[in-house]
Amino acid sequence: MKRPWYELPELNYEYDALEPHIDAMTMQIHYSKHHRGYVDGANDALYQLEKARESGDYSSIRRWERDLSFNLSGHINHKLFWESIGPDGGGSPEGEMRGKVKRDFGSLDAFKAHLTAAALSIQGSGWVILSWDPIAKLLLLVTAENHENRGVRGGVPLMALDMWEHAFYLKYQYRKADYVSAYWNVVDWKSVARRFEKASGG
Ligand code: MN
Repeated sequence: MKRPWYELPELNYEYDALEPHIDAMTMQIHYSKHHRGYVDGANDALYQLEKARESGDYSSIRRWERDLSFNLSGHINHKLFWESIGPDGGGSPEGEMRGKVKRDFGSLDAFKAHLTAAALSIQGSGWVILSWDPIAKLLLLVTAENHENRGVRGGVPLMALDMWEHAFYLKYQYRKADYVSAYWNVVDWKSVARRFEKASGG
């Protein structure tokens, strides 16, 4: 059987590449400690589930299934987060993505206001995720509690904003709005548009 099942993906830029919007120390700790922890947690949960199958002892299955859901969602969200931002970020989306944002949110400004309000509305730890719903062929903004609760099943995630305190507290402390404002300076719209085009078949 394949092991480890999941690995920490490479970061495509240096820790200090997003300065001053996201500071190097936050990036280093966030990527090399927090994200790695989720990758390790997902692998451990899968390992424990494999052992349970072999021994037939499923007495801790609730724990391992929960751990799998939490940690694997954490890994997937962080991978998307690193891909959603970059040193050449900022500005606005182009091409078909631009048109779809306008169609589904009214305007880019309305989209940004909506995402910002959703981010600031999160109680505790969570995420805002821009998702493509292939059923209605619609862009949706959804929030998630922790990594895995709520959200929408079946959507293709295109862009993520991490609203856990570990994502901003070293630099922004309680000033969440400043962190979200800084996020817009590093959003890599080209990367978001690539995922959108793949998801929408456009
Ligand atoms: Mn995080």
